[in-house]
Amino acid sequence: MKLCIVGQNIEKWANKYLISLENLECPTCKKYFKPDTSIAFKGYRGVTLSNHGCGINMPFRVVPIDKEKIEFWELLRPEEG
Ligand SMILES: [Zn+2]
Repeated sequence: MKLCIVGQNIEKWANKYLISLENLECPTCKKYFKPDTSIAFKGYRGVTLSNHGCGINMPFRVVPIDKEKIEFWELLRPEEG
């Protein structure tokens, strides 16, 4: 699974893919943070937290995207299997 940081505006990203921006709990410090980083991997789009000092193992939330969009993604990223 190759996860890409997309760098899109988080609010627009969440609206586009209907991803909840409810707070995510950091598994390390147990604090809750609003997602602020847009991510994508094959077939899914999601949000995660930027690193706030607890390492890179941040929680994330993803949603599946529809087949048409997956195919579009394949066209954009033909090197990913
Ligand atoms: Zn933390």
